[in-house]
Amino acid sequence: MNAEILAVGTELLLGDIVNTNAQYIAKRLAEIGINVYYQSVVGDNSNRLYQSFELALKRADIVITTGGLGPTNDDLTKETAAAIAGKSMVLDQKSLDWIESYFSKLGRVMTENNRKQAYFPEGAVIFHNAYGTAPGCAIEVGEKKIILLPGPPREMKPMFENSVIPYLSQFQDGVLVSKVLRICGIGESHVEALLKDILNAQTNPTIAPYAKTGEVTLRITSKAKTKDEASKMIIPVEEQIRNILGDHIYGEGENTTLESVVAEMLIRHKKTVATAESCTGGLLAARLINYPGISSVFMEGAVTYSNGSKINRLGVKEETLSKYGAVSKETAEEMAKGISQSAGTDIGISTTGIAGPGGGSDEKPVGLVYSGLCIDGEVFSKKFNFRGDRQNIRERTVISVLDWVRR
Ligand code: ATP
Ligand code: MG
Repeated sequence: MNAEILAVGTELLLGDIVNTNAQYIAKRLAEIGINVYYQSVVGDNSNRLYQSFELALKRADIVITTGGLGPTNDDLTKETAAAIAGKSMVLDQKSLDWIESYFSKLGRVMTENNRKQAYFPEGAVIFHNAYGTAPGCAIEVGEKKIILLPGPPREMKPMFENSVIPYLSQFQDGVLVSKVLRICGIGESHVEALLKDILNAQTNPTIAPYAKTGEVTLRITSKAKTKDEASKMIIPVEEQIRNILGDHIYGEGENTTLESVVAEMLIRHKKTVATAESCTGGLLAARLINYPGISSVFMEGAVTYSNGSKINRLGVKEETLSKYGAVSKETAEEMAKGISQSAGTDIGISTTGIAGPGGGSDEKPVGLVYSGLCIDGEVFSKKFNFRGDRQNIRERTVISVLDWVRR
């Protein structure tokens, strides 16, 4: 089965909004084993929309649209889909009841044009919209299907997850099970090179790597008659991957993050922590504070950017700064020790580096970063060399420091 995503909206064509719906849907379809061969964008114009439907239905089994389901005159996706399917529009009383109750709950008067949202092409499977007034639907056109979803992402995503995936699964044989492995400390191309043989041999399970700054996610997806069988198929492949990548794998599951792994470790060991940051300017503290529940262990984050602040706030020795410089192993260690002492924590973590674009030298190039770690009075440090722009270097520092700390 293959699909085409058709995003409807003049705002998209003008570049006023970004087509994040297509990105979301494409990613989710790939994960459930449906190929997307085309994505297109069309404005709120019924002729051009009709032509887009015609073309999409020629080349795809499933056409998924987003946008243009609202109550106003420029919302014409449903009407145009009905025309191409040769169906008339009929009222769905359940949807009308829902729209009426939605308005009365908000204490607003429902206008006549909102009734339009309760009309669907005859025979459509209707998808409830828990977060708005426009329901979605699926229409059969011969062997093919058209799925219509609302434009606002906060309405589209839950409808996709709760209604579209179950709807599509009835046309797919087998059950899909997937598992996510989270990786850092190694680049995407390096991961792919190491896993080359497994990636080349993949059919079922499939392995999809995707990367964002400093991290790689691997999704292993298997398909079988039952959930149990599909889960079993993942085990040997996961084992192979784990043998190759070792402790570069820091966790599993979509919701596991590097900061959650570090935070849970600190909480488990009942270790309090404080941070002293120079080049990362608070990004490390911010990242840790992403984790809800960190308050039981995270005491303080200081941004000690200047030499003066490193001296006065953290007790870094003037001599250390003049002899080794602010970006040095010695300074990083004194910063980590200083913050743990002044904040009274078990652990202190520091960062100091050259984020660029200026300020680098042959001896200390842009991208050189030191991190210090003080645990119960004992100090350690680590040197990193990053490439990239200022933002990149700062983000990579945070990821690498968290990766170092968790090990
Ligand atoms: P509404 O009932 O809000 O009018 P609708 O289904 O008619 O919903 P549109 O009018 O096309 O949808 O879009 C409403 C809003 O949804 C847009 O202003 C935009 O913020 C968001 N949106 C629409 N399409 C997309 C898309 N492809 N990607 C991301 N956001 C989108
Ligand atoms: Mg609209």
